[in-house]
Amino acid sequence: MKKNEITRNLERLHYSGEFKGINPSITDSSTFWFDKAETMARTFEEPTGNYLYTRHSSPSTTYLDKALATLEGTASANTTASGMGAISATIFQLCKAKDHIVSSRTVYGGTYALMKNFLPSLQITTDFVDITKLDQVEKAITPQTKILYCEAVSNPLLDIANIPALAKIAKKHNLKLVVDNTFSPLSISPKKLGADIVIHSLTKYINGASDAIGGVICGEEEFINSLRDVNDGATMLLGPTLDNMRAASILKNLKTLPLRIQQHSKNALYVAENLQKEGIKVIYPGLTNHPSYELMKEIYNADFGFGGMLTIDAGTKEKAFALMEKMQENKIGYLAVSLGYYHTLFSSPGTGTSSEISAKERLAMGLTDSLVRFSIGLDHDISSTYEIIKGCMKEVRIL
Ligand code: PLP
Repeated sequence: MKKNEITRNLERLHYSGEFKGINPSITDSSTFWFDKAETMARTFEEPTGNYLYTRHSSPSTTYLDKALATLEGTASANTTASGMGAISATIFQLCKAKDHIVSSRTVYGGTYALMKNFLPSLQITTDFVDITKLDQVEKAITPQTKILYCEAVSNPLLDIANIPALAKIAKKHNLKLVVDNTFSPLSISPKKLGADIVIHSLTKYINGASDAIGGVICGEEEFINSLRDVNDGATMLLGPTLDNMRAASILKNLKTLPLRIQQHSKNALYVAENLQKEGIKVIYPGLTNHPSYELMKEIYNADFGFGGMLTIDAGTKEKAFALMEKMQENKIGYLAVSLGYYHTLFSSPGTGTSSEISAKERLAMGLTDSLVRFSIGLDHDISSTYEIIKGCMKEVRIL
């Protein structure tokens, strides 16, 4: 999708409040009344254009659903109370007992733990593969496989999924290609590249203020309606509903996403290139030595850059820990998990957000304890921020 098509569509989404407010009114009701009992009865059977109960949907969540479907170029969307709520509901809607998932091995630790530890008790099993090796992906597919799962830009190793090639494999084997696009909103448009379902943790870039938890599932009308079905829909029956107040605040923050992503990407590229020049091992998809640099250039929406996430190798776990504490002391940002905040956030994925993955598996995928993951902030003057980071690295003897 051309970048101006996405942003133009987002800019043209105008929702007015009931008294001509320039923001839509916030739904302050968990239930809705009907003129006719017959219409209420029918609403349980099929969409009638009436709201019924906020766990199903409300005007406030519908505004955000529509905006996020526009962002991802899908026909519909269903917001959820968290990214994990979106991931688990999608899996439960698509997989029943004895079904199978083929997943990238470099996914968010919570997703990995869900698939590895929780789903087997429901007889849903997962094979984890190196998503960049298409032959491995295809070999892992069995007649029971229902989902091919990956992150567009993986957490925390920043592998890039070849979505067009994965989509071909999914189509050939009649699987749903589910792509978590949390790290790369606007930079990558998975649906346009062939994904069936696109997921986000709204908690990250889309909200961008680290004050809310939310998620979304974007897909075809039929699938999204199935999630909300009162008889067997995973979001309707498991109940991971986004609160109306939060839906309204996230919608407002979404309006500045294009500007924010451009600034995050510009700043991250600056830090990545300069740290690499100093001899630091940097993983960033905008660096020409990144294994998927060429692929990224083929599939990304250039106007939004390579994203705001980068990972460095500090050499040892001790140096990684010392660097993060030193950077926090020097007000570079916060030693905190999560991403997409206006200030820089840094954490140690090996000992933190990916610690659910066993030590042996982390080693196999190069996810060592010496890594530091950065979510680079919106700093106006990134060159002076960079000089402070360099100074911190010198103090803890990384440089
Ligand atoms: N997907 C990715 C890539 C993430 O990084 C995270 C959280 O860190 C999630 C999903 C889960 O999102 P949430 O914390 O909103 O449940």
